Amino acid sequence: MPDSQPRPPEGATADTTALLLRGARLADGRTVDVSISDGLIEAVGTAGSLTAPGARASASASHIELDGYLLLPAPAEPHAHSDTALTADAGPGPGPATTGSAPAIQRRATEAALLQLGHGATALRSHIRIGDVQGLGAMEAVLQARRSLRGLADLTTVAVPRLLTGVAGADGLAMLRDAVKMGATVVGGCPDLDPDPTGYTQAVLEVAAEHGCAVDLHTEGDDPARLARLAAMSGGLRPGVAIGPCGGLSRLPHDTAVRAAGRLAAAGVTVICQPQGGCGGVESRGTAPVRLLRSAGVHVAAGSGALRDLANPVGRGDPLEAAYLLASQSGLRPDDAYSAVSSAPREAMGLPEVRVEAGFPAELLAVRGDQLSAVLSLAYSRIVIHRGRVVARTNAVREYCDSTTPSALELPRQGRAGTGP
Ligand SMILES: [Zn+2]
Repeated sequence: MPDSQPRPPEGATADTTALLLRGARLADGRTVDVSISDGLIEAVGTAGSLTAPGARASASASHIELDGYLLLPAPAEPHAHSDTALTADAGPGPGPATTGSAPAIQRRATEAALLQLGHGATALRSHIRIGDVQGLGAMEAVLQARRSLRGLADLTTVAVPRLLTGVAGADGLAMLRDAVKMGATVVGGCPDLDPDPTGYTQAVLEVAAEHGCAVDLHTEGDDPARLARLAAMSGGLRPGVAIGPCGGLSRLPHDTAVRAAGRLAAAGVTVICQPQGGCGGVESRGTAPVRLLRSAGVHVAAGSGALRDLANPVGRGDPLEAAYLLASQSGLRPDDAYSAVSSAPREAMGLPEVRVEAGFPAELLAVRGDQLSAVLSLAYSRIVIHRGRVVARTNAVREYCDSTTPSALELPRQGRAGTGP
């Protein structure tokens, strides 16, 4: 791998050392110190009031000055495609049927997860195709990547079988059970691609119930009868059912979409929309009607889908971009838009809640800026904390230059909240 590509640092593990974050701004406007120990937020106090937890013990303690940064619960990525990520530039080689050799998939899956970690996503759920030419090879490679990322990011996998009904479906079903035994914790797939979508959904729900897995299905959401059946079949299934990207819901007549949303809400189904363009074909682009779904009571989270694969060669996989689009295109308030890429996906993924309060997991993102709207507008400099430890840091420096003189113009003093990128 060239040096410009992200890779895990040597010996990356979950850390038990202590960390003090000094002078961070919170979304509610307070400026605070945050002490972290053993992966949890130990205390939150007025700026200047806390000392590093390790200073009281012999453990190695460190601190970070967060003057000018907004401290937030870290985003989570609920809809990635690790097996196809970063294949857009590979040419016609890896296609839909195969995504390359196992080492190549493992390397790309690791690199993609690190790119998303750099954006702030400390937990990722990734849809991996099984069956067809690659069998369980891609799943095995991504599970290997998951192990190499331990201590940096938590990667969970969704097994995505091609067919689950008829003669070919028997193989798909056996492979789905094998994928779950190997370590896939979520059962997924595309019912619409099976000749019998209802039978496919039934099979997915049965395997999930057998193994206590969550369900995460692909659907355009443009067939209200199918959505109603899915809602009826999945109501009450624990640990929950998610569907996405559901862009087709926005093309239904308003009343029909409202009825479909009501059924999804009653069944407790989460819709994972994809504001950045999604993972499907160009014809099916368009974000789910997020405001309509939310007002019907549907849990809505946002994922990024394709990361520089054939579905979106320029996909960034940046949760803050998804939140920006929810605010700018779907008209969500900045705090609701940010919840859709942080607390909502964490809940859909069965992860513990994160708040910047004592006792909560230290899964945090510090972004240069003084309030959420500024952070969603201009989110360049970021510090990412996973399990109480800094795992990624991005520093952006901008200089304004006068074309008539080579020296940089006089700039506002750095350190003022919100002025720098
Ligand atoms: Zn997808």
